[in-house]
Amino acid sequence: MKTIGILGGMSAASTQTYYRELCLRTRDLLGGLHSPDLLIRSINFAVMAELQSAGQWDQAGDILNREAKALERGGADFFILATNTMHKLSEEMLQGISIPFLHIADATALSIQEQGLRSPALMATAFTMEEGFYIDRLIAAGLTPVLPESQDRAKIHRIIYDELCREIVLAESQEAFVAIANRLVDRGADCLILGCTEIGMLLHQTDIRVPVFDTTLVHCDAALAFALA
Ligand code: GLU
Repeated sequence: MKTIGILGGMSAASTQTYYRELCLRTRDLLGGLHSPDLLIRSINFAVMAELQSAGQWDQAGDILNREAKALERGGADFFILATNTMHKLSEEMLQGISIPFLHIADATALSIQEQGLRSPALMATAFTMEEGFYIDRLIAAGLTPVLPESQDRAKIHRIIYDELCREIVLAESQEAFVAIANRLVDRGADCLILGCTEIGMLLHQTDIRVPVFDTTLVHCDAALAFALA
């Protein structure tokens, strides 16, 4: 089994999900006492969130690059970045890195295509929903993303940072997310991407009438498949 590097802490809430799900999936697949070979670097999200909101992306990119190098030096055979948003800085992060990197949007697009779906609704941070780095990747894979209206985008963004990244899960926010998802399905989405690694704490397949792609789980599956290949 290859050693999976996880660059996480963005937020710590979702990095715990990665760890738990990778352990569960490995045991399900291999049985017995098997667990994944992991190297986790969990950074302080307060620092990163501050840089995000101040628009200091160069500094954020330097941190990701430094931490990716630490994973490579530490013996990771390949690595994943446990946040959708920070894939905005993939290029900067990968400077001088020679181990493979599994992009979360590519893994998600592939999983959607495998089910013959085409128009995913996207719920994510404003950065992920509004900038090209993620949507363009879905479009390049032949998909037609359906995005929430501006007010809904602002609400999703606020709930992610003010609640989910702090492990606060409120019934009223769950209702708001379901209502937004329903509006996106009414507008023609044939599936839903939980495009932020914390949204799975709030929304589940049983809440939604189209297939749900939780990027955290898709990413864990892709990483494990690569580790065992
Ligand atoms: N984990 C989140 C994501 O998947 C948001 C936190 C962040 O800004 O990294 O986008």
